[in-house]
Amino acid sequence: MNYTINTTKTAAVATDNYWLPVDENTPRGVKVLLLTQGDIATIGQYHPDASWVIAWCPLPRKVIEKPKAEPPKCVKCGDELMSSFTSTCYACNQKEK
Ligand SMILES: [Zn+2]
Repeated sequence: MNYTINTTKTAAVATDNYWLPVDENTPRGVKVLLLTQGDIATIGQYHPDASWVIAWCPLPRKVIEKPKAEPPKCVKCGDELMSSFTSTCYACNQKEK
């Protein structure tokens, strides 16, 4: 997501993601970003009685980092410095099994 700082320098605003209109498909009973008539963004649950809510947006998704792969270990000496090119242990020249 890209962003810019708004003209009043009070908020970072997405340049490639837009508020969605409130309609019958707006999710209920779950947290969303809400935009009010006063252009105030807040987090809350949408309810049709809240007529001051003019738009909504889903929360950004969290990036889950994958754990790094363990380096291959030599089956003979346990050294982690296997050559990825020849699959041979630098310590004892054991071929990767
Ligand atoms: Zn080895």
